[in-house]
Amino acid sequence: DGAIVIVGAGQAGCQAAVSLRERGHRGTITLIGDEGALPYQRPPLTKAYLQGDIGFGDLVFRQETYYTEHDITLVLDDPVVSVDRAARSVTLRSGRAVGYENLVLATGSRPRPIPGAHTIRTVADADSARPQGHVVAIGAGFIGLEYAAVASEAGCDVTVIEAQPRALARVLSEETAAHVVQVHRRRGVKFLFNAMVSEVREGEVVLADGTVLPADVVVAGIGVVPNVELAQEAGLTVDDGIVVDPWLRTSDPAVFAIGDCARFHHGAEQVRLECVQNAVDQGSTVAAVITGSAEPHGQVPWFWSDQYAMKVQIAGVTTGHDRAVVTGDPISGAFSVFCFSGDRLLGVESVNKPVDHVLARRLLAANCPIRPEMVAVPGFDLRTAA
Ligand code: FAD
Repeated sequence: DGAIVIVGAGQAGCQAAVSLRERGHRGTITLIGDEGALPYQRPPLTKAYLQGDIGFGDLVFRQETYYTEHDITLVLDDPVVSVDRAARSVTLRSGRAVGYENLVLATGSRPRPIPGAHTIRTVADADSARPQGHVVAIGAGFIGLEYAAVASEAGCDVTVIEAQPRALARVLSEETAAHVVQVHRRRGVKFLFNAMVSEVREGEVVLADGTVLPADVVVAGIGVVPNVELAQEAGLTVDDGIVVDPWLRTSDPAVFAIGDCARFHHGAEQVRLECVQNAVDQGSTVAAVITGSAEPHGQVPWFWSDQYAMKVQIAGVTTGHDRAVVTGDPISGAFSVFCFSGDRLLGVESVNKPVDHVLARRLLAANCPIRPEMVAVPGFDLRTAA
């Protein structure tokens, strides 16, 4: 029941604080953020919040009274600037020092910038990048496409520029990505693939081949970099993320890392996942480990993206698959893609098939030996398999 300091008051850090109290931790908990606002969720920033359907009050995880009642000390605008591991203490920008028995790094990630373009990570970012007129989204990943969907629904003229030959190349199978692009195209969104931006100027975007696109708003969604500087300067092992063991411990056993900033074992691979599921599950796991449970982190990853009325859901991590089997009917707009590496099921992507998604998560959690030939049989029943 020693003092816990959590750096980063986002999805993962907030979950860790809440779970620590739920598990009966009696020591002090200090949750330190740098955005000057109560901890809030980010997914709606390119969905309902950007659309104007909900306000900031709908994004916060808990009201301020929750933190007071549960004796969680919130420090919201005084970021941690250094960690002294020998003294077990962090120093804040104001110069204040806070001691810890266990430190949890939940510093998240930040968008890769493109000079002149907006990025969307915070409420302030979303507020300053409301879609209007000619909109150019750089990057056909989830952030760029969600932004494009909202902009298109708001009546904007939308162009998506992508350096790769196809959309969502890092995260989705060709089958699912092609469908997503088709849905956008039907709404009038234009795509330029194999296209590089050379400059973003006032009112226009210039491509490497000389094409000039009019642009009232330019949003870049070209990936994120993990916030690892604090860990690096403290001498912790960092390799595209703060490296942690299955119990989310860094190279210093008193220090943990969770969420977007953490690199961990997933099967035989080391991964860093940028999704709510990972932040929430690792927040809960770190609380369990600190309060004495030996359960390692091992939940099945999942993700969702909403674009127009289309819901894309991914169970597992499908990156690196070499075989994809489609079930359902893409033309009807509701189908799933089972992604395999050899005979091993890596994950399932579902479009407007929420039941498939839930069953697929169950299947993956139970390590069911589903092979491509089984899925390819007409009438394959996921419910029976699960
Ligand atoms: P964050 O939530 O980013 O929190 C980290 C916090 O730490 C930040 O507030 C940061 O400012 C703060 N911080 C950093 N350094 C310091 C310091 N030194 N001192 C104090 N504070 C510090 N995921 C999904 O699963 N589905 C979605 O549909 C989806 N949509 C998204 C849409 C958008 C626009 C964005 C930006 C993300 C989306 N995500 C989605 C991803 C998801 O929101 C993130 O994976 C999740 O927020 C990660 O949680 P985290 O706590 O690791 O990081």
